[in-house]
Parts: sequence; structure tokens; C-alpha cells
Amino acid sequence: MSSKFGWTGRILRIDLTGQKITEQPTAEYSRRFIGGLGIGEKIYWDETSPDTTAFDAQNPLIMMTGPLCGTTAPAAPRMVVCGKSPCTYPERFVSASIAGFFPAELKKAGFDGMVITGKAEAPVYLHIADGKASVHTAAHLWGMNNIVARKSIEQELSTSPKILSIGSGCENRVRIGNLIGDLGGSASMGFGSLMGSKNLKAIAVNGSGRIIEANPEEVRQVRNKLKQMTGQGFHNIYAQLVPMPGTETIKKLHCHACPQGCWRSVQRRISGCEGIRKCHMGSWYAKWDIKLNGSITDATFLAADLANDYSLCTDEILFLLLWLEKCLERGILTENLTGLPIALMGSLEFIQQLFEMISKREGFGNVLAEGAVRAAASLGSESAAIVSEFLTSSGRPARTYGPKSLIMSTPVFAVEQRPAITTLHEICQPFTKWALWLKTEGKASYVSTAVLRGIADRFWGGPEAVDFSTIEGKARAAKIIQDRQYAKECLVLCDLVWPVLDDASAEDHVGDPALESRLLSAVTGLDISQQELSCIGERVFNLNRAIQLRDGRKGLQDDVLSETCYVVRQEPPADIFDFYNPERLLPGKGDELLSFKMKAVDREQIRQLMDEYYALRGWDAHTGLLKNETLETVFEAQELQAFCNTGKSLKRC
Ligand code: SF4
Repeated sequence: MSSKFGWTGRILRIDLTGQKITEQPTAEYSRRFIGGLGIGEKIYWDETSPDTTAFDAQNPLIMMTGPLCGTTAPAAPRMVVCGKSPCTYPERFVSASIAGFFPAELKKAGFDGMVITGKAEAPVYLHIADGKASVHTAAHLWGMNNIVARKSIEQELSTSPKILSIGSGCENRVRIGNLIGDLGGSASMGFGSLMGSKNLKAIAVNGSGRIIEANPEEVRQVRNKLKQMTGQGFHNIYAQLVPMPGTETIKKLHCHACPQGCWRSVQRRISGCEGIRKCHMGSWYAKWDIKLNGSITDATFLAADLANDYSLCTDEILFLLLWLEKCLERGILTENLTGLPIALMGSLEFIQQLFEMISKREGFGNVLAEGAVRAAASLGSESAAIVSEFLTSSGRPARTYGPKSLIMSTPVFAVEQRPAITTLHEICQPFTKWALWLKTEGKASYVSTAVLRGIADRFWGGPEAVDFSTIEGKARAAKIIQDRQYAKECLVLCDLVWPVLDDASAEDHVGDPALESRLLSAVTGLDISQQELSCIGERVFNLNRAIQLRDGRKGLQDDVLSETCYVVRQEPPADIFDFYNPERLLPGKGDELLSFKMKAVDREQIRQLMDEYYALRGWDAHTGLLKNETLETVFEAQELQAFCNTGKSLKRC
């Protein structure tokens, strides 16, 4: 798949070891993998071996946009960042994504993406300007955090570039370091630290080109249709701004060409401090702030800014603090051992000291810099058991939109190595809107049970997907959702807008699953159906599976849910669905409502569901490896042969 529209046609290759800058045609990959995650996976597959570790110079830091980025296609400003992550446990190939304006600027500078390998001898930053890339010394920036480093680059270049940068912790290879972009955006999974391990402080880009659309009128029509469908009203819970108490919204912020917007906004405290907030993670420190100060203070607000300045992942810090608190309660750790002022937990001073210690890997900060799962494992089994209450074995949140109520999320939790939140958004969105409909008797949401069944019918393979009295239809729904998600990450579309599952403007309020392929066709001029796009999503999903298997995942043996899923107990609210729906009610047959509060998943049902899922995926039921016919949809014959010659197996023949 390639055309003169949408793609720029060039991928920038930078080998920092020899400071070699080359280019590669995007068309080598786009025909089968479109862009974004698809191309990222293929490059990773082709150019790494299972022995490549996250901080190996040869671990590529891959950043790929898609054909829609930089055009007027709505809510398509994202870029996928991928490679072997230092953050997952064990280290595995995963991806993250970043929005804002950097990805569109990269396209306008003439590149669909970039692949950075090697390691510079001394700290450097890159400047990409209209088709050319140059390497600059960053010795004077090394040790700085993001705010100062970015300002310094802006002054040096005086071209108002869009910048990706890292804070000091990423230079010291903390495993939880984010890449920081513009508009408060970041890419997690330790990719900031992967960049730091290459002695690369920042990437600045200036682009003045234009990405040409094949059919601008059709793009405009899809854009208008999307606006009508999503509306800007009460029903769009992700577009509603919910500032913290004592905080007001000053201005909504939109990424490149996003007509809808989300929680991303400039917010101001009554004390006058301001900052950009884009999701609930802006309040990750509130629990400890309230405990110490009795209410939310500036500490919560400023802790979020500080995390971005240091490039530390707030998700990981949140889990580290939950674990730390429990270890202190149980006497596994003491204040002395941590070297932290525990009595001040909840204050800004505490968080500042914590970030300094982690970033410099000083004292106990060296343990914390490894992330929650590794830190917990290093202190023994009781400590590891604490973390397993809220994280999966690979270190991802274990309960959010989990199978204890939303059973179709079982395969997402069981087989995906990465944080599954973007895939889970397709599941949680309609159920959260439905929970709101139930709670407010239709006043605050139109997503009734009938609308939910309509969504399941049009998007998830049949209305039985939302009948929670049975597991029927759940495996198929999970597969369809994952395939759509992987296709979306090839385009690359923002998952806070896409897919459009419900429609404010239609009588039946059911959305349109063909909008994405319509948009792709309009931008590229290629005729791509919804079905074809879904097949590409499936191919990219299976390539991801092949990468995981090649790099050490054990198939069936590793495709398991966290043991906490099987325990009957009251769970604290883990997500917005629980918040609106504390009884965890879900529809059954007819008007039946079923409560999943205090429920565990049933092992036999999970086994049946996973068997059906494997069959739908074309994976072997006994091993979880890919069957021959599945491999043939992913690889071309000669690629497959080359891999078989290595003596390794992804299949059960
Ligand atoms: S919905 Fe939010 S994050 Fe997504 S593209 Fe729009 S402004 Fe950016």
C-alpha cells in the first residue's frame, strides 16, 4: 500500500555510533503494514535478535507516524514509539504513542518516521529541518531536566522547533523514563531512557512542507461527520473537562487537526500556578496529598508537572508509592532504609526528593528506578506479593477494565505484553456511557441497553457480546477489538476519538465502523475497505505475537490472567466504569441486570473463552503458537524460510 498522497515516502535512519544519516523508502513496508505500529514492528522484527536487550546500542528506537498524520484528517496527530522496552518485565518489544504537534511537524519536514540506532560517543541532540538532519552537541544540556533543556534548544535554534526531550533520569537509565513532547504529551514504557542510553538528549524538528490529500473534499466530509457524531455535549465523557477541586480550566488544547479535543487543557490553581493536564493522571498524587493535608493542595498539581520535568512515568510512580506505603505498613521497609522523609509523604518536598533520588539512582532511589515490579521482586516474596495485587506479572495495571466484570477483556489481559489501556478504551467507553445512562435514568447519556446491543451488533460481531449471562461472543468481540486497535495504530489515530462507537446525531445512536477506512481512502486515494483494514490489523497483531514468541514469550503457558482475578472479594474502584457503577451491573438477557460486585472469574469459562479465541486467531490450542496458515498471512514465503533456517519455531506444524 503506497501512493503519492498521505505518506512522505521516506524514513530517516540515524546511526548514532558513526553519526551516519541515511534514508529508506517507506513503500518497502507500507504496502503490507501501512505505517505506525505496523511498520515499527516489521523494522524491529527484521533488525533485532531475541538477544537484543533494551539498553543495547543496537536496540532501535523507532518512531513512526502514519499516512493521516499532518493532514486535515481529524484526531490523527499521533506517532508510535516502539522498540524493546526497559520498563516491561522481562524486557519485551512494546509500543507507546505520543500526540501534540511533533509528529505532524516531522511529516512536514519530509519524513514518515525515524529509526535511531547505535550510541553517540558524547551527548548529542538531533535537528531535523525540511528534509535534512544534523547532529549537535548536547554536553551543555546533559543533567538538565526538560523545561530548561527545551528552552535552551529553542534559544539555540531560534526556529520554534517542536521538540522531543528527556530529563536527567533517562540519562541514568531509570527504567521508567518517558519521552516528553509538546502540549504536555509523553510516550511511556521507558522509551525516554532508551533514548538516554543512546546519549541522545532531544530531537528538534522544523517542517514547512504540506502533506497532500488525494480527496480533500471527502476528508472534509468525514471530519464534519465525525463532529456531528461525537458532538461536544454531555454524552462525550472524554471531551468533558473535569478539573480537580480548587482548579479551573483556562483553555482547552487540541493536538494537530483534532476537532474534538479531550481533557487536554491549561488549568490554573487558585494559588495561581498553571500547567497542562490531559487525563486523570494529573491527580495521581491526590491520595497522599489528602492524607497529609486534608484536601487537594498545590502539591498534587505541581507533582504532575514535576514528573514531566523529570521525565518520570506517573503511572509507575503511582504504583511505586502504593507498594512503598504497604511495605512500610508491614515492616518490610523502614524510613531509614528508604532514606525518604516518609512523614512528609503527600508534600511537594517529598516528591521532589523522591524524583531526585530516582533520577540520580541515589541510595534507595536506585531500587525505585527499576520500576514497581523489579523493585518489589528485589525485596523478596512478601514484597512481590504486594505488587501482584495491582500489577500483572509484566508490570501493567491488573484491574482497570478487567475481566472480573468485563469478561471480553480476558484475551487482552492474557495475551498482550504491553499496557492494554488503548485497546481497553474501545471496551470501557460504551459500558461507561451505559453505566451513566443507568445511573441517571437516561438523563446524562443516551447509551441505553438497546444502543449497547446495537454497538455490539455493528462493531463486535453480534449483540451477544454484551449479554453477560454467557461467554458466547466474547472471544470474537475481543479479537475484532484488538484487530481494529492494531489497524488504528498503523494509521495512527487517537483512541480518545476513534472508533466512533456511538452517534449523537443518529436515531439509533449507533456509530460507524467504516469511517476509518473511508478516511484512509480519502487521504491516500487507495480504495481500502473496512474489511481490508481489519485484515491488516490482524496481520500486525499476529506479527506482534510472532515477535513476542521469538523473544521468549511461552505462548499458552504465559497467556494467563493475574491470580487476583480468581479471588472472590470486594475490589476498590479501579476505573471510571466502577466509579459510575459501584455494583458493577451489566446487562444479561432481555431486561435482566447482573451484578459482578464481589465476583471472581470462573476458570473453566476462561479456558473455554481462550480456546475459542485461539481458534479464531489461528493459534494452536495446545501451545498458543501460530499455525502455518496464520504465519503465511504475516510473512512472505522467503521471510518465513529465513526464519525457519534459524532453527527457531513460532508454529506447531
Ligand atoms: S482527543 Fe485529545 S489527545 Fe486525542 S488528538 Fe484530540 S486533543 Fe489530542
